[in-house]
Amino acid sequence: MHLTDTHCHLDYHKFNADRAEVIQRANDAGLIRLLVPALQHKSSKEAVLLAEKYSSVYAAVGFHPTDLEEFNQKNFEEVKALANHPKVVAVGEIGIDYYWVKEKDKREFQREVLKQQLNFAKEINKPVILHMREENDAWFGEASVDLLNILEEWQKSLTGSLKEKPGVLHSFNGTLETAQKGLDLNFYIGVSGPVTYKNADKKREIIRQLPLDKILVETDSPFLSPVPVREKRNEPSYILHIADRIAEIHSKTTAEIAQITTSNAALLFGWGD
Ligand SMILES: [Zn+2]
Repeated sequence: MHLTDTHCHLDYHKFNADRAEVIQRANDAGLIRLLVPALQHKSSKEAVLLAEKYSSVYAAVGFHPTDLEEFNQKNFEEVKALANHPKVVAVGEIGIDYYWVKEKDKREFQREVLKQQLNFAKEINKPVILHMREENDAWFGEASVDLLNILEEWQKSLTGSLKEKPGVLHSFNGTLETAQKGLDLNFYIGVSGPVTYKNADKKREIIRQLPLDKILVETDSPFLSPVPVREKRNEPSYILHIADRIAEIHSKTTAEIAQITTSNAALLFGWGD
């Protein structure tokens, strides 16, 4: 059985003590590819270094909406240069986060930076990894509306394979309506640990209604540990618990979910089958 973790922050300090073992455990558990998204220019560099060191690791580069203190043209140029690396498969994670950022001008800056990064992704013809996962942002209100409007505009300007496969709404935490809009814009939906939570029936109902060929699995390690390891630091090998749950929801076997989501990820990120 082959699995792919499309979102794990392996550069994070919580993995400093045992990063090699974590990646080995992931490989032993059947994970053939691990995608490490960046938070800003420093972690973009870290992600690329990890991709160079470990054959199963791939990288994304970009600025996360809550990490924009050091966003400037010089650092953005640095990120752009890294994006030429053959193991950089996406721009991310980028997006909108109004939950942690309340100030009006900072929110405006988030949108501005997001647009710049979307344009960059279009220039280099690579998909994007989108962040909008905090409860209040994802379920209702301004953040969803603003993000979807910006994505809709961007999608109109795309052509070719990027138009068909523009990216993923990572760790999706929104309504069925938001998911549907994302699907209408050809985005994939990333499913993570919360699908396993005891009180997540609504979320499972939404995931039941998603087409399997648009689902990706991800751990978002070291965050969002799934049941039954919710008290532990999350790591890619725990993705099996997420695949198990999706299998149950969609009346498939875990092996089928592993195969489908691995081939979905290969299609989106273009790293072979
Ligand atoms: Zn993340």
